[in-house]
Amino acid sequence: MLVADLASQGGPGAPAVIVTAGVHGDEPAAPWALLSLARDGLFDRDFAYRLWPCTNPSGYILKTRESAEGIDINRSYGRGRSSPEARAMLAANRDRKFLLNLDLHEDFEADGFYCYEPKVDDAAFGSAIVQAIDDAGLPVQDLEHGYELGYPPTATHFTLERGRVIPDAEIETTFQRGLPHSIALLRSGAAARSLTFESPLRLAWEDRIAIHRLAVVTALERLRLPVP
Ligand SMILES: [Zn+2]
Repeated sequence: MLVADLASQGGPGAPAVIVTAGVHGDEPAAPWALLSLARDGLFDRDFAYRLWPCTNPSGYILKTRESAEGIDINRSYGRGRSSPEARAMLAANRDRKFLLNLDLHEDFEADGFYCYEPKVDDAAFGSAIVQAIDDAGLPVQDLEHGYELGYPPTATHFTLERGRVIPDAEIETTFQRGLPHSIALLRSGAAARSLTFESPLRLAWEDRIAIHRLAVVTALERLRLPVP
């Protein structure tokens, strides 16, 4: 499993961002979007980065959500339900602190971009990203209760806006059983903020890449601004 670090122009000790993709092997635009961001120098060097472009390599090759062992790796970051991939990431990231975690996914049911943004304060990163996607003429998903978000039907700890799922971060961290990486980072305090991006699998490849690139770049721009 590849991991790459990009140093900040501010030298060691600069605030760090972690970006991961490909935990579900059947969501291929996410890893390629992350690699293209690095190739094109779009990671703002005011920050340091830890990049994990494909955290489920066997699933990527097999084009399956799960790993070759049949594990949904993104439900294996908690105690009791682990995977070799999750253990390797957690060990490699031990003692690291991140200002921001970004996790890139795709959704086979969606018609447009949306993001999960556990609420940690009033900085609405998701609003800025939805605006940027709109401005680029790319589609944004209308979300309403009934849209499949992976929560049990009884869950009420989140609000929905166009293109945004906003769970209460504190409840979210106690709520999920097989823990996703993004929630594990919030729960341990390793990440101060976490955003998960979803592009629609049914869209053209170029548009899915463009959606992720724009979402990442806009989140990094927002990170430079003060939190209200
Ligand atoms: Zn996914």
